[in-house]
Amino acid sequence: MSVVGVDFGYQSSVIAAAGRGGVDVILNGGSNRLNPSMVGFDECRRVGEQATSGQSSNLKNTIKGMKRLVGLAFDDPRAQKEMKWYPGVTFAPFERSSGGTPSIGVKIHAGDSEKETVVPIEMVAGMMLRHMGDIAAAKAAEGTSTPASELFPQDWVVAIPNYFTDAQRRGLQAGCEIVGIKGVLRFMHENTATALSYGIFKDLKKEFDAEKPTNVMFIDMGASAYTVSIATFIPGQLIVKSAQCDSELGGRDFDMAVATWIASGFEQKFGSKLSGKPLDKPKTYLKILAAAEAAKKTLSPVGVKEARINLEMLMDDFDFSTSLKVEEYEAICQPLLDRLAGPIQKALEEAKLTSADLTAVEIVGGSTRIGCVKRKLLEILNIENLSTTMNADESVARGAALQSA
Ligand code: ATP
Repeated sequence: MSVVGVDFGYQSSVIAAAGRGGVDVILNGGSNRLNPSMVGFDECRRVGEQATSGQSSNLKNTIKGMKRLVGLAFDDPRAQKEMKWYPGVTFAPFERSSGGTPSIGVKIHAGDSEKETVVPIEMVAGMMLRHMGDIAAAKAAEGTSTPASELFPQDWVVAIPNYFTDAQRRGLQAGCEIVGIKGVLRFMHENTATALSYGIFKDLKKEFDAEKPTNVMFIDMGASAYTVSIATFIPGQLIVKSAQCDSELGGRDFDMAVATWIASGFEQKFGSKLSGKPLDKPKTYLKILAAAEAAKKTLSPVGVKEARINLEMLMDDFDFSTSLKVEEYEAICQPLLDRLAGPIQKALEEAKLTSADLTAVEIVGGSTRIGCVKRKLLEILNIENLSTTMNADESVARGAALQSA
């Protein structure tokens, strides 16, 4: 297998390959379809699933969220914001690389010795993509006598968000070159990949009508961004009519809102007995953030009224337990929910359509599972149903694979 499509996500990445039987998402060594976008430096480099254990034990040498920094200049306000989005990327110190981009100082352990090294963020992004290629190569080598290294993909389509500038695209390309990814590397927008994976099989089944175009809105909310796009389908053609984005709205913002609420409850309970602010302590922060994400997921299904939060030894040996009621959660998230309408309205205006012209509104991306997000989308669009016919986690990688085929 030498042709692959990749969804390079902020939180997780997916790789797929198109073959004669359709598109397959390639499972990693742990038989999982999603690969944490994370790189850890220890005795050796650990990437993806292998890096997750280092999140707490090797905190300062574990890097994630590189998608948001790759290709940005160190002084770019977006990079500055992201670097302060602690613990968005890393707890290690940032430096300016000789090329003017953000770099991270990590410690590499070799036996008893420790070596400090500075890795540019684009190289970390390249390492993540290389890892995805290794997953594909290992799969291709299964049951053959050919070494996996000889089956490393030669032709890639990598999906990127539509807010990526040329510089960000070039940064990702440079990262791939640094880590030795050779062959053809093409990019496509994530929303186009989603539309392609929606339309291609429907087109083959002759579900589109030349006289009556099918207009579909795709709403994608992942961990770090929210994109609304509209595509029109007629037989043999996919036309992207509009794409609008809030690049600062995603699941991590919901987690952060809940984390702030947990931290403030903890501080209220233990007050001056605490040795500092919980969100200023990296390990405490990570524990709170993980609990916030878990509570968010608990509250996603319809009918769930509250989420229990139990944090043992959260800080200074104090445990903390609380419960988050769904109404409280929605109130905390209201400022985020209020931002859902803007991109929808702009996308409709740009496409010169109204919601009545839409055949379907397809939702993808992990954060479209959030119950109050779904309800708010229905209210904004004034419709009865959102379509979930696509795999929320895999549609982008599948579309990229189809483009690569
Ligand atoms: P980006 O699109 O910003 O690059 P990504 O592709 O890594 O990010 P996804 O994998 O689409 O993002 O989604 C991850 C987000 O979805 C996380 O914030 C995660 O907490 C959230 N998520 C996943 N499952 C659920 C669920 N059941 N309920 C609520 N949120 C969920």
